[in-house]
Amino acid sequence: MQPIDGRQIQKDFPILDQQVHDEDLVYLDSAATSQKPCAVIEAMDRYYQEINANVHRGVHSLGESATQAYEEARRKVASFIGAASEREVIFTRGTTTGLNHLARMLEPQLFPGDEVLISIMEHHSNIVPWQQVCQRTGAKLVYVYLKDGRLDLDDVKAKLNPATQVVSLAHVSNVLGIENPIAEIADWVHDVGAYLVVDGAQSVPHLPVDVQQLEVDFLVFSGHKMMGPTGIGVLYGKESHLKELEPVEFGGEMIDFVFEQESTWTDLPWKLEAGTPPIAEAIGLGAAVDYLNDLGMDRLAAQDKDLLAYLWRGLQSVEGVEIYGPPSLEGRTGLISFNLEGLHPHDVATALDYEGVAVRAGHHCAQPLLSYLGVGATLRASLYAYNTKEDCDRLVQALEKTKEFFNGTF
Ligand code: PMP
Repeated sequence: MQPIDGRQIQKDFPILDQQVHDEDLVYLDSAATSQKPCAVIEAMDRYYQEINANVHRGVHSLGESATQAYEEARRKVASFIGAASEREVIFTRGTTTGLNHLARMLEPQLFPGDEVLISIMEHHSNIVPWQQVCQRTGAKLVYVYLKDGRLDLDDVKAKLNPATQVVSLAHVSNVLGIENPIAEIADWVHDVGAYLVVDGAQSVPHLPVDVQQLEVDFLVFSGHKMMGPTGIGVLYGKESHLKELEPVEFGGEMIDFVFEQESTWTDLPWKLEAGTPPIAEAIGLGAAVDYLNDLGMDRLAAQDKDLLAYLWRGLQSVEGVEIYGPPSLEGRTGLISFNLEGLHPHDVATALDYEGVAVRAGHHCAQPLLSYLGVGATLRASLYAYNTKEDCDRLVQALEKTKEFFNGTF
């Protein structure tokens, strides 16, 4: 299989063809948000120019076209993640909204003494909603820690018990770039009768993800990290679960009948999509899915492996670079977090920006993980299909220059 060549697809991303501080832009922050190909922007533009109307409401032609396009986007997403039915795909605002909704939907099933199991490598959006629900219900939030920079699977097994009701884990960590063995963990989780929630924010954009193969109960992800627009995300849930769960948002679109004092709900998936949905954004996400399918997720994953290995070697060639996570490349996807000895990551990121290289610096919304690692902040270089080995070289050169600059200053 031929991996994707980033140079060949850069023409689809005109934003990349610009200069920052008089240097050609190198965008290495796709884990925060990816760039969008013209196909996505044009699909949204077409919706507004040609068929803008609300969905599922009027009987007029524009409304029907908009509804068809919106529901077509749902079918594309369902097939992209291997869902058994499009009724299992709920459009949300993003991963954060999906996790908040899930935590609130599962709240009635949590009681004092119950346990919610998460890992220390979670993004805040997979921590804080569970903290809130645990505080309200008296359930206990239990953490699994790391071993040699990876999720400690023995710790997972040891902490699963009949009190565990929910296990919520990142598929790929947004700080360490480590892929967790979800399919293996799913068996253990189901053996104790708990739900498995997976945060796919960093996996769905990079790896072929099949919810049925992974046997997850719920999967959440964001459109904007997979070449789609902001403001749209997906909450996947097994139909049997979603049928049982009560909505947490109420209003138009989600009702069957409203009486003066009570109401009944419509069918899935609309029962869980109160109000006017993000129509243009869903259509944009559908176009992103088409674009990713055309590239081929297997080819994209192969390119990711190649580029990451190249970046890894490049970073290791810079004296004073410390890479976080396990001491090998195995199971890493999409990104590398690191620091430059003696320099604050924010200073480094600012210096890199002057070289035209965009990376992220900070705690990456994972403060418990950074505390656990004993570090306040890191740099993070994250890759996507439009990146090239030259981009990695530019980062390495810019790091060398940054070192020279600061060593000359102090
Ligand atoms: N989980 C992970 C692993 C992430 O990387 C992110 C985004 N940084 C989120 C959740 C939150 O995604 P969003 O801000 O799109 O809701």
